[in-house]
Amino acid sequence: MDVYGLLGNPVEHSLSPPMHEAAYEALGIDARYVTFEPDRDAAAEAVAAAETLGIAGLNVTIPFKRDVLDAVESDDVARRVGAVNTIDFSGDAPRGYNTDVAGVERSFAHHDVTIDGHDAVVVGAGGAGRAASFALADAGASVHIANRTVESAESLAADVPGATAGGLDTLDRVADADLLVNATSVGMEPDEDETPVPAEHLHADLAVLDAVYAPVETRLLREAADVGATTIDGAWMLLFQGVAAFERWTGRDAPVDAMNEALRAELE
Ligand code: NAP
Repeated sequence: MDVYGLLGNPVEHSLSPPMHEAAYEALGIDARYVTFEPDRDAAAEAVAAAETLGIAGLNVTIPFKRDVLDAVESDDVARRVGAVNTIDFSGDAPRGYNTDVAGVERSFAHHDVTIDGHDAVVVGAGGAGRAASFALADAGASVHIANRTVESAESLAADVPGATAGGLDTLDRVADADLLVNATSVGMEPDEDETPVPAEHLHADLAVLDAVYAPVETRLLREAADVGATTIDGAWMLLFQGVAAFERWTGRDAPVDAMNEALRAELE
């Protein structure tokens, strides 16, 4: 039996175990997915212990994504984003990847939204904002990053090819954009009556991905749907980062429908 897991602190409310175990069941894979909650300063020790114990693969979440980057050899995407969320132990040494980037790109692709050649606004410059900005720029979009703390947006934009940056007063650029990603925590429970983007900027030609998945239907997505925009909820991003991790670990196509069903059942 192969053992996969999630490294984080806290991890008790994680949605990853049911999502991955649904994939093992659908494909008849003899594996389990468990959670590990080491001390917050013990990322390197936890990775070394997992390798010693023969763990097949780990996802990594808050607060370890950055520390793990220094603890393992990481691919180019993870190094540019500055965070590892997936470790593969199948080679000679543990190797780090960032599948949040694939999660963003595949969420748009799944909804038949083209990124290449389009104008995108990313609201937020934290972990999700970094992944979204690199995903969109690498797929050919022109990216504008708007963030409450302007310096964080500027520092991220300096790393992302062709990106521009500004404060939340630049959100009026959404009116001329094709793609919008909310990568802030605004709109998340218990503040679900808030929205990161004033409704006046939303329009029918926009595709909106909200990284927030609790609640699944945020005020931003409701207001975007009201004006006829394409809406993509945060559960899709969560699903596709898991799909990309599963495929990296097993070399097999993920059973996307089974994973999606398990994830949405858990979110309900
Ligand atoms: P983070 O690194 O802490 O970044 C938080 C971001 O939100 C920062 O840009 C911060 O701006 C902004 N922000 C927070 N409160 C704000 C407010 N009241 N007004 C305006 N901006 C505000 O967090 P993260 O890891 O990027 O996560 C952000 C959201 O994405 C969370 O809801 C998380 O659950 C979600 N997420 C979803 C997925 C998924 O797979 N669906 C993956 C990762 C994250 P400042 O820089 O000014 O503080």
